[in-house]
Amino acid sequence: MAKKKRLRVARKAIPPSVRWDVMQRDGFKCRYCGRGCPDVELTIDHIISVNDGGVDDFFNLITACKECNAGKGRKSAPDVPIQPDQVKEAEKIRDWYVEFCTVCNDVAVSQRSQRKAVISLIGAAYNVDKFEMVQRDLTFIVNLIWEFGADDVFAWMQSASDRSVHLWKLAAYLNGCRKNHVGKAGDE
Ligand SMILES: [Zn+2]
Repeated sequence: MAKKKRLRVARKAIPPSVRWDVMQRDGFKCRYCGRGCPDVELTIDHIISVNDGGVDDFFNLITACKECNAGKGRKSAPDVPIQPDQVKEAEKIRDWYVEFCTVCNDVAVSQRSQRKAVISLIGAAYNVDKFEMVQRDLTFIVNLIWEFGADDVFAWMQSASDRSVHLWKLAAYLNGCRKNHVGKAGDE
């Protein structure tokens, strides 16, 4: 079962292990300019700034060189550019996606494998291998894909990931996307 971890808002130093994980994920390169050691000194930056309510969460932290970090100041940067060394990650995501579409297109597929595929897809969008999510949320996402197609839902997941939406809030976020989408369709 997913543990509902409360996010800390109080300012505290980011634990060294989290800093390491973030830098490793980002290939030890600044996510804004792509430079790395020894050309620049690397720091950890918040995508959604602390000023805007951003937290010290793996998904809200990125590697940034001192210069870029200083230049960005206290602004939020939800659309962080992807550097070339992360192309590999993008390819991994694409592979997951192809696999997922194959499963979804198989009408005879069981609920369980659908949920498994959804877990893969979320993992791809968030670039995590292992995580927990409550059954109800997974079922909701499966149904969402049946309703809107894997392309749209995956794009929504990616936007959630880009905006550092926590995994236990993902279903709610996707529900928001769904409402938005339905609203827009109604306007046309
Ligand atoms: Zn930089």
